[in-house]
Amino acid sequence: MKQTKREIMAGVECVSSKIVDNNTVEYKRIDGARVIRLYRTDILVFKPSGDVALNSGGRQTVTTKERMNKFLPKGWGIYQEKNVWYLSKGEYWSDPDRKSWVYQDGITILSAGGASGAGKDRKKLDKRLKRIKAYVDGFIKKLAARELEQPGDGDCWYCLFEDKYDRTWGDIGDRSHHILGHFKDKYYVPSLLMNAIKELPVSRITESCIGYWFKRHDQTCRSFENIGKKQVRKSLTRYLKRRLGMAA
Ligand SMILES: [Zn+2]
Repeated sequence: MKQTKREIMAGVECVSSKIVDNNTVEYKRIDGARVIRLYRTDILVFKPSGDVALNSGGRQTVTTKERMNKFLPKGWGIYQEKNVWYLSKGEYWSDPDRKSWVYQDGITILSAGGASGAGKDRKKLDKRLKRIKAYVDGFIKKLAARELEQPGDGDCWYCLFEDKYDRTWGDIGDRSHHILGHFKDKYYVPSLLMNAIKELPVSRITESCIGYWFKRHDQTCRSFENIGKKQVRKSLTRYLKRRLGMAA
């Protein structure tokens, strides 16, 4: 979806601003910082001290990565390997002194050299990936057995309620906290599935399967059930990865 400069900059105080790419504005803050903003997220903040802070706003998508790479200081880049982003300094092929850090939101390129605030190491992320898989497996099993209730007021409030920008309460602030809690409790939140298919849509056949699974209607999905499960798996997995600091 395309946004105008006015939409992107709503509520933001600045000295000057200009469109620099699709849905991307460069603006200057009163404190002198220069900012690259994609949609409603300040993805790069060039501070007066010379440090550069990176933030995907929890959306480690291809677009965010491309935009960061376009505007990062020379020699720096973001690359992706097996669901994980890395911030790197130096050319991929030719620089023997090339260094890289596991990306996480808030990671900062220091004017003194190097980076601070790097993410968890590979092993921890692999563990997280496994937990996502286990949760999604359990979710689909309960769902397809028609054991889950329809989304409603009894759901986790962080999954259920939204602010005026359609952000769930869970997506404001620390996005991962309630989700890790659901993993632990094996709490399969119906609203979480709704949020996932809103952000990462599924086909109409799958929507109909979901309606059947939630007992909204009694028309069985039959041979479409496997397609439905596959699409739900994909959507849920990507939704959760995005909230647990992984590219998706
Ligand atoms: Zn929740």
